[in-house]
Amino acid sequence: MALKILLNGSKGRMGQTIAGLAGEMNASISAAIDTGDDASKHIAGCDVIIDFSTHQATGALLELAAKYGKPIVIGTTGHGADEKRKLLALAAQVPCVWAGNFSVGVNLLFALTRRAAAVLGADYDTEVVEMHHRFKKDAPSGTAARLLEIILEERKLSADALRHGRSGITGERKAAEVGVHALRGGDVVGDHTVLFAALGERLELTHKAGDRGIFARGAIRAAHWVAKQQPRVYDMQDVLGLK
Ligand code: NAD
Repeated sequence: MALKILLNGSKGRMGQTIAGLAGEMNASISAAIDTGDDASKHIAGCDVIIDFSTHQATGALLELAAKYGKPIVIGTTGHGADEKRKLLALAAQVPCVWAGNFSVGVNLLFALTRRAAAVLGADYDTEVVEMHHRFKKDAPSGTAARLLEIILEERKLSADALRHGRSGITGERKAAEVGVHALRGGDVVGDHTVLFAALGERLELTHKAGDRGIFARGAIRAAHWVAKQQPRVYDMQDVLGLK
């Protein structure tokens, strides 16, 4: 039986992509909801909710999920720290996958980066390079920020170790520094490389995103998985068994 999805944000870029891919992943859209629609009229008929809309919509949707005991996948970003803390308490009442990046490859990159940083240690100079399209308004990307968090955690460094770009007479590279470089241009969807360089060898872990189908496929995969879980908030590392 195909998994029945209530899709919130169905007219958006991600909503349309998920609707287009559901059929090939043993899922169907039982309700396509966007601004102005009443999700409560359709929720009883779904197996799982997927939300890629706007952060203001998450609270009401989670209340509805909790009331009807429906599992939920949240891909929407942009919640403030306080807002997110309150929403997480509500989300924990149902099986919920909440992730800022649903790409399976990026989530594996997170896990590989943690492993590499732990095994290679402080002898390996570590730098993160990301490239995105010319329209992107922030830097470094959220995904690069997560990679940096992981490296800092494993190397037991504070955010003071981050070195954003280099220019002028910089002096020799310090062992405890972690370089961050944001390239911008063209229509690049999102490239991320983590470099570990020692005297005599270099390891590079690279992920390149081609289109937003990777996030949609990851979200549908998460929906199949979360429909069988107990109430709790999970992330993509849980879905992929990477913890
Ligand atoms: P978009 O602007 O193309 O689409 C958002 C849709 O949500 C629109 O159709 C809009 O009308 C609808 N919407 C707005 N308010 C609503 C409400 N109250 N109820 C129902 N629908 C509402 O945006 P997008 O590119 O599809 O991205 C949507 C969200 O997903 C953003 O927060 C984005 O950052 C996030 N995103 C996350 C990932 C991930 O992997 N987690 C990947 C891509 C995008």
